[in-house]
Amino acid sequence: MEELVRVRIAPSPTGKFHFGVARVAIFNYLFAKKFGGKFILRIEDTDRERSTIESETDIIECLKWLGLDWDEGPMVDGPYGPYRQSERGEIYREYIDSLVQSGAAYYCFCSPEELAKEREEQEKKKLMPRYSGKCRDLTKEQVQKNIADGKKYVIRFRIPEEKVVFTDLIKGVVEFDMSNFGDFVIVGSDNNPLFLLTNSIDDAFMKITHVLRGDDHLSNTPKQILLMQAMNLLPPEYGHLPTILNTDKTKMSKRNNPVSITDDYKNNGYLPEALINFMVLLGWHPTDDNELFSLDDLETDFSLDRVSKSPAIFDIKKLEFMNGHYIRKRSLGDLAELCLPFLEKSNPEHAKLAKANANYYLQAIGMIQDRMRRLDQVASLIHFFFDEMLDYSTDLLIPSKSNKEDIARNLMMVRSAIERMDVITREALEIALMKVIREMNISNGELLWPLRVAVTGEKFSPNVFELIEAMGKERSLKRITAAIEKLESGNESTG
Ligand code: GLU
Repeated sequence: MEELVRVRIAPSPTGKFHFGVARVAIFNYLFAKKFGGKFILRIEDTDRERSTIESETDIIECLKWLGLDWDEGPMVDGPYGPYRQSERGEIYREYIDSLVQSGAAYYCFCSPEELAKEREEQEKKKLMPRYSGKCRDLTKEQVQKNIADGKKYVIRFRIPEEKVVFTDLIKGVVEFDMSNFGDFVIVGSDNNPLFLLTNSIDDAFMKITHVLRGDDHLSNTPKQILLMQAMNLLPPEYGHLPTILNTDKTKMSKRNNPVSITDDYKNNGYLPEALINFMVLLGWHPTDDNELFSLDDLETDFSLDRVSKSPAIFDIKKLEFMNGHYIRKRSLGDLAELCLPFLEKSNPEHAKLAKANANYYLQAIGMIQDRMRRLDQVASLIHFFFDEMLDYSTDLLIPSKSNKEDIARNLMMVRSAIERMDVITREALEIALMKVIREMNISNGELLWPLRVAVTGEKFSPNVFELIEAMGKERSLKRITAAIEKLESGNESTG
């Protein structure tokens, strides 16, 4: 039995898998899941010059990474394959022949120079540039002679001067006056069938029921509907997702925005579940204020009638927030493993130590988990757990309104307290140090601030008692002593 819902994404492998395409993929995937339908991946590689195998591999890896497995497509196959357009030439050829035969399409021999001139004149007259239709009525004999003479040609689709009205699943009723469009090219001069044609044939051939895609394709839809009617094919239903705008209302662009899923998101330490959650909210609105959704939740909650017509706003801060949320939801072991490649990249030495001291590394990850927004922050958040030498300025040890001597004395008190302890636990340490603070009648900051800096070299860190417990007596004492020496001698960096 045919499924009621068959949707697809049809990326062109001409660059890294794009954020916009990933968003379209999620909407299609969820729509399929919601109705127990099929989600299909079709590679639109008709542009032979710009299509690359690297790009196709990137598409496939990103979809897998996001967890958007396809039911039919490259690597899984299916009843309507092949799923790469470059392997479907014969199917297109038949349709092209019949379009030319019926007169719905025609050979056009206009040279690029002629077309450029035509366009220039139209622009001068402030007319919308479009093909004039010069070759529309060539006789069969003229066409054959031109071909025999070796003239270059393209094949154009003859646009009827009529209105095309369709009901977009998201935008509602849309109307296009086709007299504003010129006859468009369906087969290029290199004899390669082009996007509007191949995309339409494949949608029909693969029994696609709904096409959900970005609204940059909206004006292609009436052309595709006409084309499909001319080929006696049944058009699918179309739904165009809202444009994505930046917070300053400019359009999301390749140049100004992070758009590569691999390079800009995966390799910068975003989690797939955060991206899924973030992207689905670029267009879809939940019924209440809760904005955190897993793919599983979405498979039941998602519905097309909550997809908005108006532009969606891309706010990277929201993604960071969500990523932090999902980082906190990961188990420690999982997070430690996910962070390791990032640590390896930024600090191979520390990564080696982390691998050799798995428990210590795990404890360290546990202490930074709350503060982490992206996995690529691991090296900077964790460095003091592994540093041989801490690099910080002496001034950092001294809170405002304190002086060197007092701070050195406070640290000495901490040192003796720690020296007296056999095993350091955070509770025992806290009790001991609070006692020192009381007895010396100083503020918490006068002791805990320099202690934090002494053991981390940083202004901010996880809880200092917990930290010292994890670092152990020897390492902590060494660092406290180094800080005291720094204060006494004014030396800059020390271990
Ligand atoms: N290959 C087209 C693109 O990447 C597909 C558009 C569509 O979904 O119909 O934009």
